[in-house]
Amino acid sequence: MRSQSAYAREDVKRNYKELYEWGRQSLCSAEIPEAELNARLLLEWCCGTDRNALLVHGSRAVSVEECDRYRQAIAQRSRRIPLQYITGEQEFMGLTFLVNENVLIPRQDTEILVEEVLRNLHDGMHILDLCTGSGCILLSLLHYSNASTGIGTDCSEPALQVARQNAARILGECTPEEKERAVFAQGDLFEALDGEEKFDIIVSNPPYIRTNVIKTLMPEVRDYEPLQALDGREDGLFFYRRIIGQAGAHLQGGGMLFLEIGYDQGEDVSRLLREAGYRQVEIFKDYAGNDRVVQGTYRSIAAK
Ligand code: GLN
Repeated sequence: MRSQSAYAREDVKRNYKELYEWGRQSLCSAEIPEAELNARLLLEWCCGTDRNALLVHGSRAVSVEECDRYRQAIAQRSRRIPLQYITGEQEFMGLTFLVNENVLIPRQDTEILVEEVLRNLHDGMHILDLCTGSGCILLSLLHYSNASTGIGTDCSEPALQVARQNAARILGECTPEEKERAVFAQGDLFEALDGEEKFDIIVSNPPYIRTNVIKTLMPEVRDYEPLQALDGREDGLFFYRRIIGQAGAHLQGGGMLFLEIGYDQGEDVSRLLREAGYRQVEIFKDYAGNDRVVQGTYRSIAAK
């Protein structure tokens, strides 16, 4: 039999305010960055509620199930598991994407890449997204444009399963008569494609972190995000060389290639594009003022 005081103590913990305070302190002692924010977001997720309800109804009782879920979530976050792998979701371009440990968590910086593509995307265009992961880039582009279609490729089949679920959520299920706007194919970059299919736009956020830098990343990234989504090999440029080397064969004349890059890769990637015959090569910065995107236009047939 548990003592009266043990019940009383647990009862006190089962209200929003007390539970949040317990979560915050647990995450603080585990030295989790932004412990307060994480404690609150996880509580909102466990209780299916929002910030306002937590503020206004701090004394509201929380069910035993919600309480258990919160304790488990705090324990996971204390082990540095990323918040998004616990909740299973990440917002990107105003849309909610499902994520799990098989895909990179979509980053805000990547919205810069999507926005640059959107400026050049016209109705009905055909897009290729290499290293598609959760599908966040391709699906945002299709969501914010009309009658465009695309293929997302990735070497990881478990990642593509996530992308396909995201496609069904974001673009809706297709009837058997309808053509899918997004198709996801497994394979190494262009090898996933059927023959010599051509695209108006090729976009990619490939792995671009130098191998010896990976060990210095935050534990959330280093220990939990898929290594193959991060590792750009010795000089970080491995995938850019391969993508730029092969993209021309899959672009319409005048088609465009858009690549996300690391803050110090603008010069190298621009040079690779120019050497491969791309024109109007431009670098775009992110909101922190770092180089983030490189774009180039493939020479038109007439200009060859
Ligand atoms: N395209 C996905 C993203 O930008 C995955 C990128 C990757 O795995 N390198 O989030």
